[in-house]
Amino acid sequence: MSRAFDVGLESLAAVGGAALSALAANPPAAHIRESSLETPPPSDSGKAFFIETFGCQMNDHDSEKVSGVLLGRGYRAVESPAQADLVLYNTCSIREKAAQKVFARLGDWKTTSSGKIIGVLGCLAQQEGEEIFERAPWVSLVCGSASYRRLPELIAELESGGRRVTGLDLDTDETFETEITRRDNPFRAYLTIIEGCDYACAYCVVPHTRGPERSRSSDSVLAEVRRLADAGYTEIQLLGQTVNSYRDPSPRKWNFVDLLRAVADIPGIRRVRFTTSHPNDFTREIVEAIDSTPALCDHIHLPVQTGSTRVLSAMRRTYTREQYLEKVEWIRAARRPISLTTDIIIGFPGETESDFEETLSLLTAIQSDGVFAFKYSPRPNTPARDWPDAIPEGEKGRRLAILQEHQRRIQIANNELLVAKEFEVLVDAHHAARDQWAGRTTSNRIVNFTSPRSSLLGEYVQARITRGGPNSLVGEQLL
Ligand code: SAM
Ligand code: SF4
Repeated sequence: MSRAFDVGLESLAAVGGAALSALAANPPAAHIRESSLETPPPSDSGKAFFIETFGCQMNDHDSEKVSGVLLGRGYRAVESPAQADLVLYNTCSIREKAAQKVFARLGDWKTTSSGKIIGVLGCLAQQEGEEIFERAPWVSLVCGSASYRRLPELIAELESGGRRVTGLDLDTDETFETEITRRDNPFRAYLTIIEGCDYACAYCVVPHTRGPERSRSSDSVLAEVRRLADAGYTEIQLLGQTVNSYRDPSPRKWNFVDLLRAVADIPGIRRVRFTTSHPNDFTREIVEAIDSTPALCDHIHLPVQTGSTRVLSAMRRTYTREQYLEKVEWIRAARRPISLTTDIIIGFPGETESDFEETLSLLTAIQSDGVFAFKYSPRPNTPARDWPDAIPEGEKGRRLAILQEHQRRIQIANNELLVAKEFEVLVDAHHAARDQWAGRTTSNRIVNFTSPRSSLLGEYVQARITRGGPNSLVGEQLL
């Protein structure tokens, strides 16, 4: 798998991790309140679970919800699989390497699983189904995300001695909502508003692994955001594979912008993010809402995948290069500067050198603040899997390296322009060795900064930028 080149979303996990360990020594008030309200008291039951998550933020958040289901059933969370009675892998299969990693993990249990329940959740579970039992007979639970509503029932079956249980139905119009969600990030609360996907991009397993698109009712979203605000969260991130395709299933029939405005209006909520937006459903109204609502963060992740209309059409992306560029113009015309990040797939079947150059020229044109670039990976159950004109791995690697260098220069140049500017930062980590604090601006830029203060986690502070690097900014706190 190629490494994403970013200043944006993917490094969140690392920041979150640092924040969590720093937090153990110095928990901010928000976390204490969240723990007491959202997480049930520790169970004295003998049953313990461990869950490892692969892949995207939606998977991270699904794991938080699955943990909530288990805590509600009297399980307790443990730090290592060796201590657990129930070991779950919440998997990703978006690229081949992610799937291989999960099978390697399962292999670790070949001779040591006795007395434990091993389960596979998520995209790989849906994709491979009962074949997982063939490849790893020590696995007892295989459940795709569209069947998570059935998890309590499946777990009950295992607890009463069931040997192998599966939840593999895609045929659902329900979303996975839980009474209790164990939230791992104390600063930013994730909240799924739409699950599945109705697009049919030729390279993508998601419609097969996550099922058809279904939105959560606006009432239930708002009620959860109010609970999160009461628990002390100030930043919310709305999630969906195509988050801006949101359509309220309740009689009030809100669209995505109606929901955005209402979430931003909830007292106590200072920042609302959303990801991932599909260019086809990206409207001017979204930009207008950001412009007129300070709580809506000034960052849009809008994956383009390629700069070539010919390749976009082969990918079945439903828009052209020109249409994408028009949407970027709306963003650039906003009164507030809005940060833009995107995804690129390199080496889709048939991508020529000139298609690739169109991708480079598009990156120059849009001046994006971050790019997640991936080498194309053929996936099962996708139309493009067996297409001819495959690009050799070496050539994909060459193009990826060129693109990363191209984008690095864009980011260095743009970040240098931010020197001497001031940003509000929500502090989420402390790097003791460098004696620096770290956090994010509303535009999702990472700022590492110095401060004379000794306790800042969870606070909003003003920082002045002193240096711009390719992936982050350096600054000092304004007192
Ligand atoms: N729904 C989002 C959209 O349409 O932009 C994307 C969600 S997808 C889970 C995240 C990213 O993974 C995609 O934007 C794409 O760049 C990448 N991706 C998906 N399938 C891929 C494949 N077969 N090979 C390489 N990258 C892939
Ligand atoms: Fe996959 Fe395309 Fe759906 Fe995004 S819009 S999840 S890339 S099928």
